Amino acid sequence: MLIAVYTLTPQRDKHIDNMLAEELRKLGHEVVVRAYVYGARESICYEKPDAIIHPMVGGEYKMDTIEKCKEWGIKVIVRRGEAGVTREVFNRLDANRQELITGHWDYSPFVDLELVWGNEFARLLSEEGYMNWTDLRVCGAFAFDPYFANGTPLTQRNRNRPKTMLFATGFSTADSSPDYCETGLPEGSKYHAELHNIHKDARGKWMASIESLCLKFKDQWKFELKVRPGESTKVYEDMVPSCVKVHPEGSASSEVLRNIDLLIHSGSTMAVEAHLLGIPSFNYCNVNPDPIVAGVAPQVETHNELERLIGRVDLDKSNIIRPMLRHLEESLYGPIDGKACKRAAAHIDEHLKRNRVEKNIPDAWPKEAKYFKDDGIHLEQQEGDARWSCPCCRNIFWGEKEGTRNCPYCNMKINRTTITSRKCPRKRTVVASVAK
Ligand SMILES: [Zn+2]
Repeated sequence: MLIAVYTLTPQRDKHIDNMLAEELRKLGHEVVVRAYVYGARESICYEKPDAIIHPMVGGEYKMDTIEKCKEWGIKVIVRRGEAGVTREVFNRLDANRQELITGHWDYSPFVDLELVWGNEFARLLSEEGYMNWTDLRVCGAFAFDPYFANGTPLTQRNRNRPKTMLFATGFSTADSSPDYCETGLPEGSKYHAELHNIHKDARGKWMASIESLCLKFKDQWKFELKVRPGESTKVYEDMVPSCVKVHPEGSASSEVLRNIDLLIHSGSTMAVEAHLLGIPSFNYCNVNPDPIVAGVAPQVETHNELERLIGRVDLDKSNIIRPMLRHLEESLYGPIDGKACKRAAAHIDEHLKRNRVEKNIPDAWPKEAKYFKDDGIHLEQQEGDARWSCPCCRNIFWGEKEGTRNCPYCNMKINRTTITSRKCPRKRTVVASVAK
C-alpha cells in the first residue's frame, strides 16, 4: 500500500517520521514522507496515498484535511508528536488547556487509529477526549527512538573539542501576540495571554543569566543555544553575547546534543535525550506545567544556584532523577526503548490488512471559501485591493496591503507585510506568513 507520512515540525518530527517510514517499508509498504502544512494537500491529490499518517488534530485546517481524506476513502492514522499529560495534571487544567490536549473539535469520525506514547494518556484520551479506546494504540516514547538507532543507546559523544554548554530555549509564545499565540486554541481564550507572559518572564531571566555565565565562565566553556520549534533564532541572535553559537532553526536535538557536555533547559524532554547520551542537565526557570516531565532533571530557580551547580557538576555522567524517569515511563511516556516506531508500524500494518481501501481522490484540492466573512477581504479583486496568497492552501484572495486575516479557504491566520530592503530602500518584498 502507499502510505504518506506528513511531518508537522521538521525539527521535532522529521527524524522520527523517517524511522517510522523505514519500519513500514520493512513490512512491504511504499512510503513517502512530506511536509504537512505546505505539502500535504498537494501530495494527497497528486500521490493519492491509501493511508496517511497525520499529526495531532487541532485547528480547522487539520480538521478539513482529514475530513476530506475520509470522504475520499483514505485511511487516516494520527500520530501524536508529543506525549500528552498525566491524569493528575489534566485534572488541574482549566477547560481551555484541556482542549488543547484532547482536541477542540471531535475528529474521531475522520480518524481510523490514533497512535500515542503511553498507556495513561491513551486511557485519558478515551475518557476525556474523542477517540474510542479500541481505536487508540500505545506505541512508546517516539521522541527517543533515534538514540537507539543500532539497537543500543548511542552513548558515544564527540569529546574531542572544548567543554560546551547548551542553552535549549523553550519560550515559543514569547514573541507572538498575547491575544493569540497558541494555534490549537480558539481565539478569545484567556490562556493565550497567560502563556505569553510565562514565556516572556522566563526568557527575561534566561537572557540575564546567559550574559552573566558568559562573563564568568568564558575561559572554561564554549556556549551554544538551540531554539525550540516555533521560536526564531533571529530574536536570540540579537539578545545573547556574540560568544554564543546559535544553531539554525530546524537543527535536530539528537545531532546538537552529541557535541555538548551540559544542557540548560526550562522543562524540556531534551533532558531525557541528554540522559540517554550520558549528559547532565539542569531545568532552569521551568515553564513545563507537567511536574513529572519538569522533575526528571534537577530544577533550579535562581541564577546564583545555577552558577554554583555548573561549577561542581560531573560532566561524565547523567544526573537524571531515576525514580522520576521510571515514573515518567510507566505513566506518561511509555517504554523508552527505541521501539516506538516499530510498534507503530506493526499497528498500522495490521489495521491496513484488516480494512479494504477504496479511494476516490480528486486531482486538485477543492476550492471552497467556507470561511469567508465579509470583513474587508474579497474573493474577487476590487479597486485598490492587494493580492493575498495563502501560504498553506495556496489560494488567492484580495484585501488591504498589510494586516492579519483569516484565509477564506482554510481559515489559517495569515500576516501580510511589506519588507523594505536595508541596502536598497526602494526594493520592497511582500511577505505572507502564517500568523503565530
Ligand atoms: Zn488558506
